[in-house]
Parts: sequence; C-alpha cells; structure tokens
Amino acid sequence: MSASGTGAGEAGSKGRLDWLLRMPPEVERAHERDFGAERIKHLRHAIIVGLIVYNIYNLTSLHLMADIQPFTVMMRLFVLVPGSLAIFFLVPRVPPAVRELLLLGGMFVASLLPLYLVYISQSTYASYTLGELPLVLLFGNMLLVLRFRLALVFTTVTCVTALWVLHAKPGLDQNLVFPLTVQVVTGLFFTLYGNWHVERQRCLSYLAQYDAENRADRAERRGDALRDLTLTDMLTGIANRRHLDETLDTWLTERRDVLLLMVDVDHFKAFNDRFGHVAGDDCLRRIAAALQAFAARHDGFAARYGGEEFTLLFAVKTETGGAFLAEALVRTVRDLAIPHPARADGLVHVTVSVGYAGTGESGLRDPRNLVTRADLALYEAKSAGRNRSKAG
Ligand code: GH3
Ligand code: MG
Ligand code: MG
Repeated sequence: MSASGTGAGEAGSKGRLDWLLRMPPEVERAHERDFGAERIKHLRHAIIVGLIVYNIYNLTSLHLMADIQPFTVMMRLFVLVPGSLAIFFLVPRVPPAVRELLLLGGMFVASLLPLYLVYISQSTYASYTLGELPLVLLFGNMLLVLRFRLALVFTTVTCVTALWVLHAKPGLDQNLVFPLTVQVVTGLFFTLYGNWHVERQRCLSYLAQYDAENRADRAERRGDALRDLTLTDMLTGIANRRHLDETLDTWLTERRDVLLLMVDVDHFKAFNDRFGHVAGDDCLRRIAAALQAFAARHDGFAARYGGEEFTLLFAVKTETGGAFLAEALVRTVRDLAIPHPARADGLVHVTVSVGYAGTGESGLRDPRNLVTRADLALYEAKSAGRNRSKAG
C-alpha cells in the first residue's frame, strides 16, 4: 500500500480525524501494519544523522559557553549519545505507542539540555546557543515527524522553558530578550505548523486509501456472494443446473475421466399427492444433503438437475467403478428410510433410480452425449422396477 490517495476520498475522511490528528484505532492499527516497518527504518536513519549533527554543537559551545565546555561535551557524549543509541536499539522492539513516546523523551532531552546549559553558563555569549533550539525542533517535528499530539506537547514544553530561561537568566543583556524571544517562538511555531501539515496529509491520505480498500473488499464479497447465489439451487442449497454445466465442461476440457450419474426419485408424484408439496420439499432437501455427502466422500460433485432429479459427477474411468458408485448411491438413499407408504410397488420407503454413463470406454467427451446415455440408462432402471442402477 502507498499513502498517496488524495481528492474526494480525503474530503470524506476529514470527519474521522480529530483536532489532534488521531485516526480511529482500527485505522491506526492498519496504518501501523502497512507503514510501521518503513517508519522504523526512517527513524533509525534519522537518529544517526541527528546524533552526528547534534555533536557538532560541541564545537559551537567551545565559543559560546567556554566556561562550562567540559561539562557540555560530557553531557552530549555520556548522556545524549548513549540515550539516542538506546532509542535506536529499542525503536523496532517496542509497541508503536511506546516507540513514539521514546522519541518524545529523546527530543525532550535534546531540547532541554541546551536550555539548561544556557541557564547555568556565565558566558556573555551563552544566550546565542538558543539559535540551536529551532534546529532541534526542526529535527523532532519535521525529520522524525513526531505524531502531531506529541509534537504539540514537545513544542509547548520547549517554548515555555525557553521563555522562562530568557526571562529568568541572570545577567542577560536586556536588548537580546525581545529579539531572542521572537526568534525562538516563531521558529518553534513554524516547525509545529510544518509538523501539523505533514501529519494531516499523512492521516487524510491513509484514511482515504483505507476507506477505498474497504469499499473494494465489500464489493468483492458482495460479488462473490452473488456468484454463489447464481450457482446454488434455492430449494436444496446444493449446486444448481448452471453449476453442473460449468463443472461438467471444466472436467471434460481438463480431459479428466468423467462418470455421470442421473438420479431420479421414484414415485415422487405419489409422495407429493400423499403428504403435500411442503413435505415433498423436505424430502428433496434430505435426499440432496445425502447425495452431497456421498459425492464429497468420493471426491465427486452433486447438483440438482431439476424437479426431483439430481446429477452426480465422479472422476472414475472403469465400468466396475461406476457400477459400484451407482449401487452405493441407490443404497444410501434407501438407507435414509424416508417413509413412502403411497407407492404401489410393495416398498415403503423413498428410493431412487440411477442411470450412469462414463467417458472412459467410449472416449466421447461431449456433455450432451454423456447426459443422453445416462438418461437412457435411467429409463431402463425405471422400466426394470426402480430402486436400482443401470449402465448406459
Ligand atoms: P417416477 O418413479 O417414474 O420417476 O415417478 P415420479 O412420480 O417420480 O415422476 P413424475 O415425473 O410423474 O413426477 C415428478 C414429481 O416431482 C412431480 C412434481 O410435482 C414433483 N416435483 C418436482 N419438483 C418438485 C419440487 O421442487 N418440490 C416438490 N415438492 N415436488 C416436486
Ligand atoms: Mg423425473
Ligand atoms: Mg421421479
């Protein structure tokens, strides 16, 4: 994913961003998933660059705060450097919220340390060290890009402390107080404004992208559900005729051996006449479920062909294999033992007749031919007394 979405999507996303530029928690989590690793990499680079530049100020303090020079160097080398390296080490190893707070902590030390040094130095030029402050803020707010809420805290605390130092430091040339105050405040304000702008853009872009992807996901799921619907028989919930045609075509195209079984419920009109169509529907559902399970057990495919007729496909070549499956299927339905007292042939349960035909021996791979042969075999099974299977 890339955070480059702009335009209408962003306009709709504004309402989901509060004034502290916080995105909804689930979006924050998604953002971290997408961009967490990238941010960690960026932060680690920036920390090293920041460390190098920050230590260059050891040279400026030689001129501006000569009276405490050894102390300033020690503070930088023995507090700031190890602290920054610790953050460098921890950034990829802690949760995102802790990672961001660690950055804030590090930036506090980096900005409050020079203020403290200015405050304790007796040097006439010490206050010029305040010139570093906007650069430190620039680093935190624009290079690390602290999260806006943390940048706000960081900038405010630094600003208040700087103003306090400027006014409380004894012996500061009064002519410097006003211009330095203006310089510090405007410098800090600019970096905070920059941070707000960059952060806002990041959040709005990501929100727009997140929403667009969610919409696409929902549309895809709806599309899948609709497609499932067009392939499913409404009464029984198993595959319908369209699904059967597609599957048969696919199997034949893939040059698999196909055994096709046509299944017809025996004396079903009498069943309906006796128990009514609602009970007839229930009976069809039970048979469909049994056929479906049977097909699944033998790596096959079951569909409702229409009415009280079903079709099953198996990747079976030999005639003996076909005979075995067809007979097992007749038995499976008979074993459901659904009462059918209305039939006149002496049996008392619902049964099916099965006609089957395969591509194996004939080598014919035409679906119509396969169905016609299985149909003729089914007619034979009916004529021979039903509740049985015949090969086509
Ligand atoms: P045979 O043993 O020769 O197949 O006799 P049969 O009565 O099963 O065959 P026939 O073709 O005479 O009747 C099929 C019946 O299946 C008639 C029809 O009402 C019923 N039928 C077809 N579709 C449905 C359905 O969705 N629900 C119900 N309840 N009955 C259905
Ligand atoms: Mg029929
Ligand atoms: Mg029938």
